Amino acid sequence: MNSFTFKNPVRLYFGKGEIRQLKKELPRYGRNILLVYGGGSIKRNGIYDEVISILNELDLNVFELGGVEPNPRVETARKGIEICKRESIDFVLAVGGGSVIDCSKLIVAGAKLEEDPWKIVTNQVPVKDALPLGTVLTLAATGSEMNANSVITNGATKEKYGWSSGKVFPKFSILDPTYTMTVPKDQTVYGIVDMMSHVFEQYFHDAENTLIMDELCEGVLRTVIETAPKLVEDLENYELRETILLSGTIALNGMLSMGSEGDWATHEIEHAVSAVYDIPHGGGLAILFPNWMKHVMHVNPARFARLATKVFQVDPSNKSDEEIALEGIERLKAFWTTLGAPSRLKDYGIDDSKLDVLVGKAMANGPIGTFKVLDEEDVREIFRMSL
Ligand code: NAP
Ligand code: FE
Repeated sequence: MNSFTFKNPVRLYFGKGEIRQLKKELPRYGRNILLVYGGGSIKRNGIYDEVISILNELDLNVFELGGVEPNPRVETARKGIEICKRESIDFVLAVGGGSVIDCSKLIVAGAKLEEDPWKIVTNQVPVKDALPLGTVLTLAATGSEMNANSVITNGATKEKYGWSSGKVFPKFSILDPTYTMTVPKDQTVYGIVDMMSHVFEQYFHDAENTLIMDELCEGVLRTVIETAPKLVEDLENYELRETILLSGTIALNGMLSMGSEGDWATHEIEHAVSAVYDIPHGGGLAILFPNWMKHVMHVNPARFARLATKVFQVDPSNKSDEEIALEGIERLKAFWTTLGAPSRLKDYGIDDSKLDVLVGKAMANGPIGTFKVLDEEDVREIFRMSL
């Protein structure tokens, strides 16, 4: 393992009715609250009313920023930052999925800064301070509720990048599985693909002797694989929602990255696609990940063979590591397709007309990945395989 430091300060409240914890948490901060949410799902499913009634009970001054888009925009974060500065906001409460939380992270950091927040996303200015943030999660996918990451799109330049700062860890996150029951089937599947992809990104790396982490990763993957097919047939099943919700958090709260950096090239490549075509992140990953795997498996076929046997139950007898590995990748692809995920860029109407643009955006910060460091030709080939 590589040397590492681990710290995760997020207080997690998990379970039915845990929204009540807002009454304990919020009085610790000031009275001016900015409530951030998305395109309206929380108004349709009643979560907005529940939150507002608690905020009113606490007699807080509530300001609102709704309309955060899936693939959240820096333009929207700017509006939130302006409200924070104008109204002397003390605390930001994000209620929604990863997009709402990611946008809120940029708002809390940008509120303490004179410069434009895009400079945070592009690492041109360091985050020295941030307003306190809390989240109420409504969709199992990103792990943003328990990590310090945020992914932001610039609508004007069609760029999408991830950034990270320990200053934007939520102070607390409330995870009630019932709040995820109204997530439609397609978004449920995208979330499942995203959390599995997060595990893959951390499972493939260039570090040695990571057995304990390998076993943890495989356990999370097996759990999701056992649960997901049942959930897509039974979207309001509490126990299934509960398992998937916690899986998403564990998949990207830093715990699976102990002793290695992970790879993350496929996420970079997907960000280029969703920056240009505004497709759902999980949909893009479902298309790209099996092709990344096929393209890089020669680097360490034994590692892919291990994944295939331990997670995808491939029978290894009388087969080479390459054959076992390929069978595992095909099973992953079939698993996601059966759930209803897309498998080709064509499924989103994407052809090769902007291939150069996509490659350029994926490689904007130089070569990507660690398991195999990808150059332009590698990325172009993965796109070609995905068409
Ligand atoms: P999302 O973009 O937050 O939400 C997707 C859709 O689901 C929205 O239309 C949203 O509607 C709806 N929705 C959310 N909760 C719902 C509920 N309870 N019932 C019904 N509909 C609901 O999805 P996400 O997958 O969580 O986040 C995706 C973003 O996160 C991408 O930009 C991706 O790049 C990023 N990401 C971040 C990290 C990280 O570590 N920070 C990791 C991976 C990906 P409303 O807008 O109406 O609420
Ligand atoms: Fe992701």
